[in-house]
Amino acid sequence: MTEPLLRAEGLGKVFLPPGGLPFVQRPAGLRAVDGVDLEVARAETLAVVGESGCGKSTLGRLLLRLIVPSEGRVWFEGRDLGALSPRDLRQMRQHAQMVFQDPFGSLSPRRTVAQIVAEPLEVFGIARGRRALRDRVATLLERVGLPAAAMDRHPRSFSGGQRQRIGIARAIAAGPSFLVADEPVSALDVSVQAQIVNLLQDLQAEGRFSCLFIAHDLAVVRHIADRVAVMYLGRIVEIGGKHAVYGAPQHPYTQALLSAVPRPDPDAPRRRIVLEGDVPSPNRMPTGCAFHTRCPLAQPVCSRERPALREVATGQQAACHFAAPNPVPVKV
Ligand code: SF4
Repeated sequence: MTEPLLRAEGLGKVFLPPGGLPFVQRPAGLRAVDGVDLEVARAETLAVVGESGCGKSTLGRLLLRLIVPSEGRVWFEGRDLGALSPRDLRQMRQHAQMVFQDPFGSLSPRRTVAQIVAEPLEVFGIARGRRALRDRVATLLERVGLPAAAMDRHPRSFSGGQRQRIGIARAIAAGPSFLVADEPVSALDVSVQAQIVNLLQDLQAEGRFSCLFIAHDLAVVRHIADRVAVMYLGRIVEIGGKHAVYGAPQHPYTQALLSAVPRPDPDAPRRRIVLEGDVPSPNRMPTGCAFHTRCPLAQPVCSRERPALREVATGQQAACHFAAPNPVPVKV
């Protein structure tokens, strides 16, 4: 089997509250990511989906080591990121980039598009000199569907979709092998979302980079993902190939999320699963299965024992005591 581009083992992140007074017990930290094992193959798109606050954005930042994990390790191109020197880590960033959720806040309003897109080219020594930089920026803008003339304008003069295209141009400027796209379409009009998803898909096929595509909606990732990981309260509860997860979801949470996704055949019968209650606070993680407080199938064992993520079909894993091996596909 070929070595994955990226691998995480036992990855966890607890955000501790600011230090209190001596001798006063600090409140428990917020467990944003909890024991995640993950692999991303070369040139594949792994979508990570789940409700707001489930830890998927924190996971993306941990994989790029933009934040330091509380536990666990990440290997990128075979190198343990935790063992890299600051200099090697900076060099690694040429190969691992991020597209942010908020195209309004992630681009400096005072800089021109040329300055924004050219920055990684300068930092990593990919192009030098004004002429060479402008040529590269023009090519990158063209690749994301913007005219070269856009380079002398400021971000405020563009629409949300166009700003996201600028963010993508910057992210691919240094020729990354891994891109984390953190909810890249959630701040955009529905009419523009498909264009940005299609753009990322085209660029990914062209550039052969791997992509971690973070979204809160399974409908958004249906076309772009090769595999899908579903997160709940900081844990991956199901992961597998797109067709397996969409066609035969094994975790009750995945089944509930999918039951709300519009289908190509609206006449096909389907039961909408409405989850009761709110997502518990990551400050007070439920015992056992983190989903047991909302799961329509919960049994007494679920609040006592944490289910392991285990193989339920070839290439598909689910963390549920009652997930059946070799499931019968369902129409979704
Ligand atoms: Fe539901 Fe129990 Fe499965 Fe958790 S382990 S998803 S509570 S049935």
